[in-house]
Parts: sequence; C-alpha cells; structure tokens
Amino acid sequence: MVAIAGLAAIALLLMPGAAGLVAVVPIIALLLAGGFCLRQSSKGASAAAMYPPPDMLLATAIESTPNGLCIFNADLRVVISNSHFAAMYGLTSAQIQPGTPLREILHSRVESCFCPTNAEEYVADCLSSASSRETLHTTDELCNGKVIAVSRHPMLGGGLIEVHRDITDVRLAEIRAEAGRQELIGKQFAIDQAVIVAVTDLTGSITQANDNFCRISGYSRAELLGRNHRILNSGTHSREFFRDMYRCIAKGEVWRGELCNRSKSGMLYWVDTVITPQLGSDGKPIAYMAIRVDITARKYAEAQISYAATHDALTGLANRAALLERMDEALARMQQHGGALTALMLDLDGFKCVNDTLGHAAGDALLKQLAERFKSSLGETDMIARLGGDEFAIIRTGLTDQREDTIGLCVRLLELAAEPFRLDGQDVCIGTSIGIALAPMNGTNAGELLKKADLAMYRVKSEGRNSFSFFEEDLSEKVISRLRLVNDMRAALSRNEFELHYQPQFDTGTSRLCGMEALVRWRHPVAGLLYPDRFIAIAEETGLMGPLGEWILQRACADAVLWPENIKVAVNLSAVQFRAGTLFDVVLCVLVESGLPPERLELEITESLLLQDKESHVRVIRQLKNIGVTIVLDDFGTGYASLSYLLMFPFDKIKIDKSFTEGLLTRVDCMAVVASILTLARGLEIAVTAEGVETIAQFERLRAQGVNYVQGYLFGRPGPVRELNFSALDMIARADEAA
Ligand code: C2E
Ligand code: CA
Ligand code: CA
Repeated sequence: MVAIAGLAAIALLLMPGAAGLVAVVPIIALLLAGGFCLRQSSKGASAAAMYPPPDMLLATAIESTPNGLCIFNADLRVVISNSHFAAMYGLTSAQIQPGTPLREILHSRVESCFCPTNAEEYVADCLSSASSRETLHTTDELCNGKVIAVSRHPMLGGGLIEVHRDITDVRLAEIRAEAGRQELIGKQFAIDQAVIVAVTDLTGSITQANDNFCRISGYSRAELLGRNHRILNSGTHSREFFRDMYRCIAKGEVWRGELCNRSKSGMLYWVDTVITPQLGSDGKPIAYMAIRVDITARKYAEAQISYAATHDALTGLANRAALLERMDEALARMQQHGGALTALMLDLDGFKCVNDTLGHAAGDALLKQLAERFKSSLGETDMIARLGGDEFAIIRTGLTDQREDTIGLCVRLLELAAEPFRLDGQDVCIGTSIGIALAPMNGTNAGELLKKADLAMYRVKSEGRNSFSFFEEDLSEKVISRLRLVNDMRAALSRNEFELHYQPQFDTGTSRLCGMEALVRWRHPVAGLLYPDRFIAIAEETGLMGPLGEWILQRACADAVLWPENIKVAVNLSAVQFRAGTLFDVVLCVLVESGLPPERLELEITESLLLQDKESHVRVIRQLKNIGVTIVLDDFGTGYASLSYLLMFPFDKIKIDKSFTEGLLTRVDCMAVVASILTLARGLEIAVTAEGVETIAQFERLRAQGVNYVQGYLFGRPGPVRELNFSALDMIARADEAA
C-alpha cells in the first residue's frame, strides 16, 4: 500500500514541471525512512500477489520519465537514477551506481561535459545547495550545447531528489522569440521614425497615432484619439475618391494612394498612404492601419516642375504647350458635343523698338503689364498664352455669336494695348495685330487653327497693323506673296529698284508752286510699280527702313538742289528713322553732300511717332529746326495725339489729312475738325497744308478758311522727276491742265 502511494507520488514528480513535488517529497522520505531499499524484495506476500514488486515498479516509473532523475539519501549518496540522467551527462552506469556520493557524481558530470573554467566552484555551489532546506533551481549549459534545468528538492528527514530537464529546445525557442521580439521592436522604432502611423476603427475614429502623425497633423495625441479621421480632410479629393477608397478597404483589400490632408493650422500636406485592413477571425476588417509617408516636398517640386512646363516664366501666362493641350481637349469636346472655338493670334506692333531703345528690362516690364491687361479682359473659360517674344494667343469656347463676340473682344484688346505703358518714367505706346481663326469653320485641329490665325494676323501687319482680321481661305496666297516681297526687298535697294515721285504743293496766298513732296515707289521687276502702302511696313519690320530712308533723303536732296531756289522738297520720315538715334547726323550729312540749303528741306513726320519717346524726339526735332529744316506734322487728326502735342513739339507746319479734305463739303465732323485745326494753328502761328485736294470746290473752301498750302490731284499727281514742270504756271492753270 505504501509502495503504491510512493509510486503514484513519484509518477507525479516525474511529470514535467514541479507542481506535484511538494506533496511527493514526504512520501519518498517515508519510503526511505521505512527501510525501503532499492533492489531489496518486498516482504508483503499479498501485495506481491497483486502487484509487481515495488522496487521494480519504482525503477520502471523512474525510467519512464523523459527527464533525468537522481535520488540521494541523507548521506548524499545515490539511491537510484535513471538512464536519461546517465545519457544526459555521458556517465557510465559505474559512475552512477547506488551509493556513489553526490560529490563524485558532480565531478563526473563536470569532467564529462562541463566547460573546465570554474568546475571547482560549480561543485562547491552544488554541495552547499544540497544541504539547503529549500528547493533550488539552476540551469547548466553543457559544452555540447545542451541546456539542462536542474531542480534540487530536499526531502523531509534528509536526502534529495534531482530532476534534470533538457530544456535546449525550449531555450532555443525562447532565444528565437526574444530575437523576433527585438526585431519587431526595432522595426516599430524604425517605422515610427520614418512614417506616419494611424489606426482607426471601422467608423474612421482614430484609435492609435504615432508621434509623426501628431507632428505632421499639428494635433496632440489626445486631440486625435477618438476623433474621426475626417478632421484632416483638405477638400482636395472628390467624394468618389474617398468612396472608392472605403470600398476597397471594406472588402479587406489594401489601398494605396496619395492623399492631401489639412493640418490643424490649415496647412496642406501630402502623404503617400497604404491602408491595411486588420482582419478579424471571420476574415472581415476590424480596424484599419494607415502607414503614410510625407511627400509634401516632392509634391511641391512636382507642382513647380509642372508649372514651369506649362507656364511662361516672365508673364506667368500659359505657354504654347499648355495652350495646345487645352485646345486639343476643347476641340475633342467640340467634335463630340458640338459648340465652337475661336483662336486669336496677337503680335505686338512696335515692341522691338521698345526693346531696342529702352532696353530689355523695359520690354519685359511692358510684356508683364500687357499680360495683366489682357487677362483682365478675358472670361473664366478663355485661355491666354504667351507663345514667345511679343506673340500671344487666346482661345475662347462656347460663344453664342462667335463673330460678334470676337469682334467685341478684339476691340477691347486693341484698346488695352494702345493705352500708354509707363516704363522708366515715360509713357510708351505700342499696338497689336490680331488674326482670328474659327473652329469648326476654319478647321478642327489646333495646329491648323493657329496657323490660320497666324496668316490672318500677317494680313493685319501688311495692311497697316493695329487691327484685327478673320482668316479667309485666299489668305495664304496673300501672305506668301508678302513673304516673297520681303525677300525681294533685300536686293531691291542695291538693284536700284526704288524711285521717287514728286507731287507739287502750292501757296494759296501767291498761287505759286512752292514745294514738292517726295513719295517713294518700288519698280518691282515682276509686280510692276508698287506704292508705299505695299512695302513701307515691310521695310520697317525687316530693318530695311533705315537704309531705304537714307537713300530717299539723299535722292530727294540731290534732285531738289537742281530745282529753282524757291522750290522746297518735303520728305516723309518713318518712326524707325527717328528711333535709330542717328537721324540728325544723317540729315546733316545728306545736306552737306547734296549742297541743298537746310531751308529748302521739309521733313514730314506722323503724330503716332510722337507718342513713343517724347523727350528724345523733341531734342532731335529742335536740332533739325536749329539748322533751318522745316518740320511738318503729317496726317494730323488721324492718330491718337491730342492737340496738346502741338504745344509740346515745335512744328512749323501741320498737314490736314486727306480724309478731312475729302469730307470737307459733305461731313459736319470733317468741317469741324478742319475749322478747329485752322483756329489752333493760327493761334500758334503754325502754317497749314491741306492734302488730297481733288476738286475746285474743296480748294475754294480751304482757301476761304485760311489754309496756307494745298496739294492734291487737282493740281498734280505724283510723278517721276523727269516729268516735273517748273514753268511759272500758277495753280489754277495747273488745275485746269490737270482737269
Ligand atoms: P502721305 O505722306 O499722306 O502721302 C500722301 C499720299 O496721298 C500719297 O500716296 C499721294 O499719292 C496721295 N495723294 C496725293 N494727292 C492725292 C489726292 O488728291 N487724292 C488722293 N486720294 N490721294 C492723294 P502714296 O504715295 O501712296 O503714299 C502713301 C503714304 O506712304 C504716304 O502718305 C506716306 O505716309 C508714305 N510714304 C510715301 N513716300 C514715303 C517715303 O518716301 N518715306 C516714308 N517714310 N513714307 C512714305
Ligand atoms: Ca506726307
Ligand atoms: Ca498725309
């Protein structure tokens, strides 16, 4: 009975762990004290009949444990041990024979498989712990890498039980688990350093926020936790965007995308975001973890790059690439849904002159001011682009009356461009030529429309600029012929193809011939005799006006010096000649070379020229006047100059434009203009010439009103120098002759 109880107790004891030990130890003590002796047969015959002998049972039980077991009596000598114990330490059965002292066993173990370093110390420690009254646990690391947990359980009345458990696998697993834990901690640390982490529940309420999240959002953790993630919504993304995102994560899928959020202070920041649903045991999301990387700097850089790629750096307007893209979109829409698109090409008139005379900084300033003006005149759906230099383009869509509307816009643009620009303290004036192409009428392709608007713009240039024109199909031909003319003109001067025709001017007081106006002609080898309206603008644009103007002055003075002394010669000047800055020197040289007295030279300038650079032009005019040259204001009343210019510039003569002469007898406004010019001129003691006089009636009226000089077909058409007639015919006779 006692033996059975003892066996049961040992069986408990042998189980891994030491839970049953406390109960077991006294029983074993009892066994030992009761003279139970290993390898001694039991005396109980009835028990022997029912059970195997107790020592056999005990030996079997001890052997069946997976642990090493060694029991010592009060003298610390082996009572019994199992084969696991021997195998664990590589001991022979002789080394663990019952009766062997603990000290010897310890030495055997140390010799067999302990590292030699502190063997003595180890044995001493074990011996001293063996006399302890408490259960002690140690862990031994053997030199073969095994790890053994040793428990020493003292028994009541002396003796002890040693349980040796091989915990190598457990320890390795622990080591691995610890390494894994450390790795995770490391990763989490790295993640927290690098990215923004937020966890929300299914309703979007924030349940976790790392420091980076707090820092970038500007909210404290306390402010974030429990709040809906919506507080960061920047309004950048559409409802559909978020709907798609929630659909994706609600399905348990990972969502990845770039988001723009708004921080507490209102600043926008961009995050590259991966939202991973955390799934419950049923496979459905129970929370969402968002890991975000701050990409604000990259986004800004991208925005800058894309801005630079689509905008003109100087004016901030769209550039050609952006315009073409928008046109393509609009035209594609037009093709699908109908509608219209208008393309306008604008080129400034006189901009080169601003650059040349005032410098590029002033030119840039003008372009910027102009861009602002143009922008202010456009609607929200219009787009304006700077294509380069002084070239702009505008596109408009969805107009009810395309033509009417465009005309309105062009008038506004022309007015805006014509308003003086304040540059470096002076007022500068320029003009604009606008060409227009209409889609779908003129085409449905961006390149084609711009080309056609360009052609229309060239026509405006060739027809006197500062206006607008719609594209017409025969335009290309006209423009090509103009281009040909530009080419031809380069050689025309050296080939002597220019000639001067002279038109007589008469003094109404004396009725006598008093002067000749030189009017240039181009005898083109193919096109025949060309009039200045066809080529002066081209000459000005292509830089040929300087040399041509100089030739005209030379020719006119050389011709006039041969005429009677009382006949003056009037030469028209182009604004380009003024701007070159060498006009005074050129005139002086020509006078000296030709020998024509300065008093016999009149220079005709138009008022539009005066709007440009008043101070320097006044200086040149004064210099010319000082040497005796007469300065005439041509085409008076047609341009922008107010009457105040008459006071500012020291003119000797005003020429009433032929349009007023033409309307003198039929139109009240013309009568009024002529009357007021004459009153003003009389007050300022400036002489007045009327040009374009074609009828006797016009002449009579002009003479009656006090015009000093007359010129017109009535008295003679412009003709080549060899046809000039200086005979002493008075103008009436001439008029009769001309009639
Ligand atoms: P403008 O200076 O006003 O010249 C007068 C124009 O009126 C001339 O045309 C002349 O032929 C024309 N004309 C003369 N009498 C009559 C008339 O009774 N009725 C009508 N309807 N017209 C008349 P043109 O020669 O074709 O010259 C046109 C413009 O070209 C000139 O206008 C002038 O601005 C410019 N131009 C002519 N020659 C030169 C030149 O040598 N240098 C410069 N820079 N410009 C010139
Ligand atoms: Ca003239
Ligand atoms: Ca004129």
